[in-house]
Amino acid sequence: MEINLSEVFYMPTKIIQGNNCVIEFSYLIKKFGNKALIVTGKTSSKLNGSLEDVLFSLDKEDIRYKIFDDVEENPSVETIEKAVNENKDEDIEMIIAVGGGSALDAGKAIAVFFANPTVSVKEAFTLKNLSNLPVICIPTTSGTGSEVTQYSIITDHDSLNKRNLGQETYPVLAFLDPRYTLNLPYDLTSSTVFDAFSHLVESYLNTRATLMSDIIAEKGFELLCELKKKLMDKDLKIEDREKLMFVSTLAGVSIAQTGTSLPHLLGYSLTYNKKLSHGIANAALYKGYLSLFKDYPKYLKMINLLGFKNTEELNSYLDNFIQYSLSLSDEEIKNFTEIALRNQEKLKNHPLIVTKEDIKTMFEMARRS
Ligand code: NAP
Ligand code: ZN
Repeated sequence: MEINLSEVFYMPTKIIQGNNCVIEFSYLIKKFGNKALIVTGKTSSKLNGSLEDVLFSLDKEDIRYKIFDDVEENPSVETIEKAVNENKDEDIEMIIAVGGGSALDAGKAIAVFFANPTVSVKEAFTLKNLSNLPVICIPTTSGTGSEVTQYSIITDHDSLNKRNLGQETYPVLAFLDPRYTLNLPYDLTSSTVFDAFSHLVESYLNTRATLMSDIIAEKGFELLCELKKKLMDKDLKIEDREKLMFVSTLAGVSIAQTGTSLPHLLGYSLTYNKKLSHGIANAALYKGYLSLFKDYPKYLKMINLLGFKNTEELNSYLDNFIQYSLSLSDEEIKNFTEIALRNQEKLKNHPLIVTKEDIKTMFEMARRS
């Protein structure tokens, strides 16, 4: 093992896990203030019990609150601005984000603008080190890991793409209660799990991977190996849902150290322009991405940890796991390739030389009727 002079690990989020954890540990919320803005999507948190638990806990702790429940999938600059404008005269001291990655990312971005009222969302994309109100995250999908990452991915219609806000918005608290995912439909379960899987892979096969991020990613692969049959059979019990939520958070801890890589970079164009959900966009790009690694030793170890004999077996599993259709014209592939090549920072995360042809091939292999 080679020990280099480097930053090895940072994870400031306190993680609380288990059934009923929001209510049982509600006293932890109290220390972040007396008034919260709850940020959530339109419907799901009202149906899966998460919002009810939050409201019960806030009443119990005598914390006042406002609710913003208008976060759409892939939240936009405009939604962030709306939430801040509607609540700017309230004495909000913390943000509680409840839902999938979209609600969590929106909550993290909103927290930045409450702390920096004179900064516009557009300006924030190019500024560094903006502070934020404390953010508490309660995920209801097992995919993004946003409850433990510094990232907040926002749709910017002016640049016709999704962008990381670019601030270090680590949540102060993450509550993982798998009961909220019990009725997550299987199509959403699969696409969000694929996102968690892709975080593990892209963190593991990454120039910025460290021994610590590798340990975490390898544990994630082992847990997914245990779950892969149940996932394919659509037969998940509460204990499996609990494991999946844990995998998703592990994967979030891992990408918090390394960032993601090619599928995420290219996938944003597929989500913005072709309306594929985040997880499906990643899935579409995976066959092409994995083909870049051939005999790369860490890649072979990863296949082994996932319990597959070789690339063909892994690809065949993934092909059956996610259903989608995608047509891409040559012109679109040319444009999306140019967009990807502009993000040199992200391209540097890929541990092999990556050419324009590689990126084009990933898009070509993503086509499916
Ligand atoms: P999502 O966009 O948050 O939600 C997708 C759909 O699932 C919504 O319709 C939502 O409904 C519904 N939903 C959420 N929880 C549910 C539940 N328990 N039962 C039934 N339906 C439920 O999906 P996501 O995949 O979790 O998040 C994707 C977003 O996260 C993307 O914008 C992506 O870029 C971002 N992301 C961020 C990070 C990060 O580190 N910050 C990492 C990866 C991805 P409602 O709208 O009614 O709630
Ligand atoms: Zn992702």
